[in-house]
Amino acid sequence: MMRYSDIVGPPAFPTFEPAERLLMGPGPSPIYPSVLQSLAKPTLGHLDPQFIKMMDEVKQMTQYAFQTSYPLTFIVSAPGSAGMETAFVNLVEPGEKVIVCRNGVFGGRMVENVLRCGGIPVIIDQEWGKPVDPDSLEITLKANPDTKIVAFVHAETSTGAASDAQLICEIATKYHCLTIVDSVTGLGGIPLFTEKWNIDAIYSGSQKCLSCIPGLSPVAFSPRAAEKIKNRKSKVQSWFLDLNLVMAYWEDGLQAGQRAYHHTAPVNSLYALHEALRLLCQEGLENAWNRHREMHLLLLEGLQDLGFTFLVDEPFRLPQLNAVFLPSGIENEANLRKKLLLEHQLEVGAGLGALSGKIWRIGLMGYGANKENVEQCLNAIKKVI
Ligand SMILES: *Cc1c(COP(=O)(O)O)cnc(C)c1O
Repeated sequence: MMRYSDIVGPPAFPTFEPAERLLMGPGPSPIYPSVLQSLAKPTLGHLDPQFIKMMDEVKQMTQYAFQTSYPLTFIVSAPGSAGMETAFVNLVEPGEKVIVCRNGVFGGRMVENVLRCGGIPVIIDQEWGKPVDPDSLEITLKANPDTKIVAFVHAETSTGAASDAQLICEIATKYHCLTIVDSVTGLGGIPLFTEKWNIDAIYSGSQKCLSCIPGLSPVAFSPRAAEKIKNRKSKVQSWFLDLNLVMAYWEDGLQAGQRAYHHTAPVNSLYALHEALRLLCQEGLENAWNRHREMHLLLLEGLQDLGFTFLVDEPFRLPQLNAVFLPSGIENEANLRKKLLLEHQLEVGAGLGALSGKIWRIGLMGYGANKENVEQCLNAIKKVI
């Protein structure tokens, strides 16, 4: 046996055993047991005809979830942030004006994406907790007729505010702009009609209302968007996210044997997404949307009884993300959250940015949006405050 005298010895750890936490923060959300089980199934080659057939099913179910027939609907092999980046690097060419309606953390990331693509962001700032203001958008579009794209967040996870994606896209389309919509937290939780609303690029995440494991980003691009990407003057600066290359791997009409290698798909993670989407299809979007709303109302009642107040005005509240101020007189919310986690196995989210230390973000996402969880959450909160 060969000996290597200068080898550094290995660290020795036991197998990792995560605690069973109830995830009621801004994501990841609780995962369906059958979704977790699907991860342990045998790995297939990513060009195996059986795997490719499964991916076609994933595509069809994703189209249903997004309510679109766009052929360019697929899964980015990376988290929601990569879905965001896919939309921006492909659609924004250097020098193009992009209006970003910013009403929270994720709108801020959109601005950062525009800048890194060499685009010129025109920012419409909205107070955190408020939805995007359609009137301000129209005024800004009139003042900036050379705008190419309008981008906004459908469901702002940092504040719990829902924006009127239909109306915003209608205005953007009237001014001949493409639309980029972040529905990472929206998909599966609140009504979303990608095609009917004329959305040109939409992205989501696997770990919010789909209740799948983190790390995948379903996306869809309209034929208009696909056309723009094919006719770009400059090369997309990201090799991995360049849809001109990805299209060859995913597009319709390709025989299994013709599918070219682009990158190794995260095979088992995609089994998990297949199962999560299958469960969404089985429940039906309307039932899922209604369930989120009903559980939100139940949680709201309990929280208000305990003295919590909501950051967002009633008509704009996201059922899947409840941003609440703690009852007056309660200090050191971070300690209470720690107690919830360590003593009650309950995770709730902290406030971000200016809302840090001021609010909690209680998620009711996907599989997590059920009566037992609402009750468990309220009981635990009652005990710590
Ligand atoms: C969670 C989230 C993202 C980012 O998703 P990751 O999977 O964490 O990269 C983007 N936008 C919104 C609105 C989100 O809630």
